[in-house]
Amino acid sequence: MEPHEIFLKEAEKKMTDIDFRQRVLPMLDFMEANRVVRVKEFSNLDLAKQRAAYTRWKVTENLDKYLVDFEGSIIRRGGKVLWAFDANNALMEIDAIIKRTNAQKIVKSKSSVFHEIGLVKHLRDKGNVIVETDLGDYVLDLMNEKAYHPNKSVTNQKLENIGRFLNQKIKSSLEADPEELVSDIRAEIRNKFFEADLGITGANFLISDAGSIAISENEGSARLSFAFAKTHIVLAAIDKILPTLTDLDLFFPLLSSHSTGQQMTTYNTITGPAYREDFDGPAEFIVILLDNGRSNLLATQDQRQALNCIECGACSNVCPVFKTVAGMHSYQSYGGGPIGQVVGPLQQGFKEYQYLSNASTMCGKCTDVCPVKIDLHNHLLRNRHENVVQGFEKTGEKLAWFTWKKFMLSRKNLNRPAAIKNFTFKQFYKSDWGDQREFPKIADKSFNQLWREKNGL
Ligand code: SF4
Repeated sequence: MEPHEIFLKEAEKKMTDIDFRQRVLPMLDFMEANRVVRVKEFSNLDLAKQRAAYTRWKVTENLDKYLVDFEGSIIRRGGKVLWAFDANNALMEIDAIIKRTNAQKIVKSKSSVFHEIGLVKHLRDKGNVIVETDLGDYVLDLMNEKAYHPNKSVTNQKLENIGRFLNQKIKSSLEADPEELVSDIRAEIRNKFFEADLGITGANFLISDAGSIAISENEGSARLSFAFAKTHIVLAAIDKILPTLTDLDLFFPLLSSHSTGQQMTTYNTITGPAYREDFDGPAEFIVILLDNGRSNLLATQDQRQALNCIECGACSNVCPVFKTVAGMHSYQSYGGGPIGQVVGPLQQGFKEYQYLSNASTMCGKCTDVCPVKIDLHNHLLRNRHENVVQGFEKTGEKLAWFTWKKFMLSRKNLNRPAAIKNFTFKQFYKSDWGDQREFPKIADKSFNQLWREKNGL
C-alpha cells in the first residue's frame, strides 16, 4: 500500500473509534490548556516569540556559517563532528563507531531524529544490544508499538495494557499503580546506564559559539545515557543550531512552556566531552550532523522558515487533523502534525508525500500557537501550489477541478434540480469522502433561484 493509502485507512479507523477518542482527546486538550496557562507568565509573549523567530531566521539564513562555527568549537573542545548526508550515511557512521569502540551495550535517549533514521531497528538487525531509556519509549518498545505524540509518546495506550506488558516483561505487579510502574521501570533501566559502553542522545539545540549541546528533558535519561558511557554520540539535525549560550534564556522557557506547560523542564543539560577534572562524562564525544533532505528545504526560499521549528509539539495539540488521525505514526512520514505535514513533502519528495499538505482544515490554529511564528497553514498552501508546479497533481483531481469550474461558471447548470447536482457531486467526491460521514446535500434551490422568487423575477 502507498503511504497516502495507509494514512487514509488509519484516519478512517481511528476517526470512528470512540474509545480511542475519549481517551486521547482530553489529554491533548489538557496539554493545550497547560500551555495557555503557562504562557501567561511571559511579560510579553508576542515579543518573546518575535525574538525567537528572529534568532531562528538569522540561523537558517546563515546556516552554513553557524554549522562550520559549531564544528570548529566542538573540535577545539576535544570533540569530533561527522556530517551525514542522509539516514544511511548516519547509520553507517554509527556502525563504524560501534565497531571501532567494540561497544557491546548501548543506551539511547529520546529524540525524533532516531525515528527518522530507523536507528533502533537498524542496530538490532545488526545484532547490537540497545536499550530505550526514555520511559515512554521503553514501554512502547516492550509493546512493539509506535509513538503517538512528539512529547507524550504513550498518550494513546491504555494503562491496563501497559501494566499487562510490564507484568510479562519486567514482572511488575498487576495491581501496581502508575507510580509503582514508573519506579519498576526505573529500577530496570538504572543498571543499563552503568553498564553501557556507548550512549546515544539527540539534542534540542546545538550551541554554535560554545561547541555545546543543550538537552531539555524531565526524566534525566538523556543525561544518564552519556554520564557513564565511554563514548557519547549525539545525533542531531543540522537545523538545531542556536548562535550563543545566552539564547537558551529565551529558548528553554519557550520550549518547555509550549511543549509540556512547564516553566522549565526538570533537567536542562549543556555538555561536551569530559575534561580531566570532571568526575564523569564520556572520554569520546562525537556529534553527527544529519541533513537528510533539510538542504532541499533550505533551498526553497519561501518554505525554509519551517526549519526554524524547535519541536515543541504545540501545533499538534491544537490540530483537528492530528486529533483525528491517531497520532504521528499515522502520517507515514518522518514527523506528524502540522510541521511534519509542511516538511514531509519538501524533505521526502512531493511525488509520494503530497497528501500531507492536503490533510488540513486550514483553521490556522497551528500558526497561532507556534512559539517561533512559523506560518504553518500558509506553508501547507504553498506546498499544494508546489505540487501542481512539479506536475504531481493526480489526473482525477485535475478532472474534478475542471468539471467543477465548468459547472460553477454555468448559470444553467447551477440552476439544475438538486437531485442532478447531488448525483454529479457524489460521483466525483464520494470515494474521498469515506463511508463514515454523511455526504453533504446541495440545497434544493440555488441562491439565484431564491433571489428571483423573492423579487418576483
Ligand atoms: S512548528 Fe512551531 S508549534 Fe509546531 S512543533 Fe515546531 S515550534 Fe512547535
